[in-house]
Order: sequence, then structure tokens, then C-alpha cells
Amino acid sequence: MHTLVFATGNPNKVREIQQIMGADYTFLSLHDIGCTEEIPETTGTIRGNAIQKAQYIYDHYGKNGFAEDTGLLVDALDGAPGVDTAFYGGPQKDPNANMDRLLQELQHQSNRAAHFKTVIALILDGTIHTFEGIVEGHILPARQGAGGFGYDPIFQPKGHERSFAQMTGEEKGQISHRARATRQLQDFLRRL
Ligand code: IMP
Repeated sequence: MHTLVFATGNPNKVREIQQIMGADYTFLSLHDIGCTEEIPETTGTIRGNAIQKAQYIYDHYGKNGFAEDTGLLVDALDGAPGVDTAFYGGPQKDPNANMDRLLQELQHQSNRAAHFKTVIALILDGTIHTFEGIVEGHILPARQGAGGFGYDPIFQPKGHERSFAQMTGEEKGQISHRARATRQLQDFLRRL
């Protein structure tokens, strides 16, 4: 059994990553280590923010662990919302406001190609290791499905006929950006 801090306040991310990592790993939450402050995410890139969060936990709490940052990059919007994905519809980070804005921006767009990108940054004894996962797909014209979280109801992965929100957690966990990054993390940890 290995224990690592997972520097997130998002229970959906914990559930998805725990499902892949299995019973060999237990995660300590920010709450478990007494971290109640907002961790800065100010680097301007998805990779940079993932590293910043993992480094913060190491610097302030002396713990090995990992953080992840995810963005949705839309071709017709030159990669927006990208690093601003959480705040696209306003500072409240409201998923419905985020989806509404994106659907509106793409209202007259025929090119709806997009991809999700997750970067996981692992810090072990001060050394950072990063793992990246991408899933290609497109933005649907309207919400479909009630599962998942965030932008899942309007994202349909390439080669599939359903949105992430119409899939079971297990199905999403086979193909998602987060699953791809997590499997690399898992391989890396197994080889240690
Ligand atoms: P962050 O990595 O927590 O900053 O998340 C960025 C934004 O992407 C938030 O609005 C999340 O709701 C959204 N997001 C992160 N992962 C996923 C996912 O797997 N599906 C749909 N939306 C996601």
C-alpha cells in the first residue's frame, strides 16, 4: 500500500484517478494534510499549473504527492478556453455557465473539434515528473447525458457516439485524457 497526497479539492478527479490506480494506492487529500488555503495556479499553462500545485505541497507541507491540471482546447477558438477552462463562464467556476458560454461561442461554427488535456505532476523527494494525456473529440451542439462532471455533457470523444456524460465511469476511464495521464503515472510508480 502506497500513500500519496493528491493536491485537489475536486472529488470527481479523486474518484476517476482512484478507479484506475486501484487499491494499491491511498490518497491523502488536502484536508488530510491540513491544507485549507487556495493553492496558486498562476503560471498561465496547464503543465505549469500542475507543477506549481505539486511543488506547493512539497514546499509547504514536505509531502510527496501529485497534482493535475486539465483544460479543454477548442480548435476554432485557437485553443481557448485552455488554461482558463474552469473560469470560462465567470469566476464562480460554474459548469453550466462554462458550457453555456462555450456553446454560444461556437453557435455559428462548423468546426467543433476540441481536445481535453490533463497534465499530472508528481513530486518525489523534490524531483518533478510529468505525465500528459489527451483525448480528441468535438463539442456537441447541446448537452447530452447527466453523468460525469464539468464539460462532459457537451464533449464527444472521437470514434464514439455518446458524450462523456452518457458513458459510465468505467467507459470514460478507458479513454479519457485523465485516464491516459493516470496510466502513465501508474506505470512510472510501478517501475520505481
Ligand atoms: P481544473 O483542472 O480543476 O482547473 O479544471 C478545469 C476545468 O475543466 C473545470 O471547469 C473542470 O470542470 C473541467 N474539467 C476537468 N476535467 C474534466 C473532465 O474530465 N470532463 C469535463 N470537464 C472537466
